[in-house]
Amino acid sequence: MLGQMMNIPLTIGSMVDHAARFHGQTEIISVNTLGGTEETSWGEVGANAHRLGDALTRLGLDPQTRCATIAWNNRRHLEIYFGVSGAGFVCHTINPRLFPEQLVYIITHADDRVLFIDKSFVPLVAAIRDQIPCVEHIVLMGGQDADAAATLEGLTFYDDLIATGSPDFDWPDFEEKTASSLCYTSGTTGNPKGVLYSHRTTVLHALASNAPDCIGFSARDVVLPVVPMFHVNAWGTPYACALAGARLVLPGPGLDGPSLVALIDTYRVSIALGVPTIWMGLLGEAKASGSTLESLTRTVVGGSACPPSMMAAFRDQYGVEVVHAWGMTEMSPLGSTNQPLAKHGDLPTEEQHRLRESQGRPPWGVDLKIVGPDGGELPRDGVTQGDLMVRGPWILDAYFQSNAEETLTDGWFHTGDVATLDADGYLSIKDRSKDIIKSGGEWISSVDLENIAISHPALADAAVIGARHEKWDERPVLIAVAAEGQTPSEAEVLTIFEDKIARWQVPDRVVFTDVLPRNATGKVLKRNLRDEFGDVLMG
Ligand code: ADP
Repeated sequence: MLGQMMNIPLTIGSMVDHAARFHGQTEIISVNTLGGTEETSWGEVGANAHRLGDALTRLGLDPQTRCATIAWNNRRHLEIYFGVSGAGFVCHTINPRLFPEQLVYIITHADDRVLFIDKSFVPLVAAIRDQIPCVEHIVLMGGQDADAAATLEGLTFYDDLIATGSPDFDWPDFEEKTASSLCYTSGTTGNPKGVLYSHRTTVLHALASNAPDCIGFSARDVVLPVVPMFHVNAWGTPYACALAGARLVLPGPGLDGPSLVALIDTYRVSIALGVPTIWMGLLGEAKASGSTLESLTRTVVGGSACPPSMMAAFRDQYGVEVVHAWGMTEMSPLGSTNQPLAKHGDLPTEEQHRLRESQGRPPWGVDLKIVGPDGGELPRDGVTQGDLMVRGPWILDAYFQSNAEETLTDGWFHTGDVATLDADGYLSIKDRSKDIIKSGGEWISSVDLENIAISHPALADAAVIGARHEKWDERPVLIAVAAEGQTPSEAEVLTIFEDKIARWQVPDRVVFTDVLPRNATGKVLKRNLRDEFGDVLMG
């Protein structure tokens, strides 16, 4: 027997329509690529999304045509998110920090026909234009611009394009499982792989992330997604904010501490989202400028482990709650968020703080387990480490243009992370499995060591690698960047580990370097560090 309820597909177009209809006056602040800010609203964003959908349809594009973006977080990018997907095309967000050859690879692999770009990326695209013949339309995200037109032949302009469309354009009908957007993993090894989201997965992910124990945006929030819109759809923030009718502050190209502090204070931001490296800059500037970040109540931190010292700084100096989140491109990306349970309210404060340090619990829709080398499930005791497997309705089945059989194991996706799970489902990420340090048969978590190292006041940045060792196979070595004006000795740095971990886990050496190599999404490139420093312990 079938239920007798309306069968209305879950679509991205319906999200922006909801925001435009019921939160039409709600402000969207957008920092322009060339400086200055503009203020628009969900009503205007909705109308422009329909105009764009109409204009693209009039270009004669086939359904599911990939329309790519190389752009900052701004209001036109937001309109493209909804207009492209709403009209039945696929919004392919591209990370501009990829190498040119990787850009060519993914544009060709995705078969992008339309490419929307911000002015900053005109030279980047001009340099590869003759290697991406699949692209038929390059659209500058702005009004007419003679300089840009002179650099890139055949360039068209977003503001002209949407003027050819109508705000009354109706979204076409299609199934909710239709593809809506595409994002490539950063591909530190091998070619980047495409993850193709659908309308249904995007809506479900947005609903789940809006629960109070997850990220929980509301119509009273002012939300600053510092996480780029080219990085797993800014963790789904634009969609979740459309559902909630939250105000958005889109920061444009300036992600430095001073720009972010100014945006938070000027627009009374209540929630900001981003990776730990961004928050280091923000905290540094808040301290230097004396800002109290008064309006900020929460930051959602993920993408890499958030050091406990950073949580403490937000909490103790600014009264800001850090919600530690974990996920990956293959998971849309949300896998877990750290929020307490009712029973934790009776615990001593210190203990409550400690419990907030892990990557948290999964929302409904994400199932997690850890397995051993034989694939057998390991206990959820908070101690046993294993390979983390996931499944759920917004987790990838197969990479774009590849087979599911190659991707899943008995219906579970192998995250490549090593983790512990406890009886309440709290997840603690120990490492990427390729980065964990195997010392004489014992595993040492580089994440745990980094979290401790970064709390050393004389250090600005830290990474730990497994260096080859004659007796123990591998031993931890700390690669450290000294804070400005500091020249700590190796021994001074190592004191930070005293009484915090077992002796045998303390790094064998500290090597100082000027800057840590990072990939396009801000993660430390451990492989490069191992290439450079992997033999420092050998004779
Ligand atoms: P994202 O784009 O969300 O950063 P990626 O797919 O680039 O996702 O990388 C996902 C990987 O990043 C995870 O498998 C995990 O190793 C790491 N990661 C993400 N969030 C955290 C976190 N809070 N703590 C530790 N590692 C994390």
